[in-house]
Amino acid sequence: MSEKIRVAIDGPAGAGKSTVARMVAAALGYTYVDTGAMYRAVAWAVIEAAIAPDDAEAVCALAARVEINLEPERVFVGGTEVTDRIRTPQISNLTSPISALPCVRTRLAALQRQMGRLGGVVMEGRDIGTVVLPDAEVKVFLTASQAERVRRRREELGAAGITLSTEQLEQDIAARDERDASRDVAPMVPASDAILLQSDGLDVDQVVSRILEFCKAKVDT
Ligand code: C5P
Repeated sequence: MSEKIRVAIDGPAGAGKSTVARMVAAALGYTYVDTGAMYRAVAWAVIEAAIAPDDAEAVCALAARVEINLEPERVFVGGTEVTDRIRTPQISNLTSPISALPCVRTRLAALQRQMGRLGGVVMEGRDIGTVVLPDAEVKVFLTASQAERVRRRREELGAAGITLSTEQLEQDIAARDERDASRDVAPMVPASDAILLQSDGLDVDQVVSRILEFCKAKVDT
């Protein structure tokens, strides 16, 4: 594929977006952009600066100046590496209300658009196909059943040494999805031209190869 397209992968927590998006990017030789990590980085910076998360004015001021750097597999806020620190359940839960603030979204969406402007990106999040890259050549909305998403999240957290009960995980994921889907600005919804992919019963390689087929079809047409 010589033309460098933009691939948007959106969907709820635990649908497997990160693994899939990373593999699609590697197969195409594209840059992988994890926009959730950027929202998590802002939430981490809010805690670090001892700002009350419901102090919208202070959060907005911080979001306007915070310096976020995504490197392959690593995330930095200013000079501090936060790669692992942004993956805790506490940050997951705090990120959702913070990411509902329009000032936070405007700042991060501008950075994300900048990253996608030359093409050759696989960007994953909640609003990539609808708001950040509405002209992306390939848009996928990846879902999975609640049970499957809880299972995946448990595995991810387990790998990081964090154990939560199934009930707690179910509650956290449901609350986060509900908030992400019902917020006023850039809610998590499939773009009207997105391909809906339900990943239950499919392994990662099958999901990746389907997405690669969509990409190939776009470039060949
Ligand atoms: O994808 P991940 O689970 O890391 O995202 C963490 C949170 O960041 C989401 O629950 C959502 O509130 C927010 N987010 C967002 N828009 C994106 C990506 C993530 O609002 N494009």
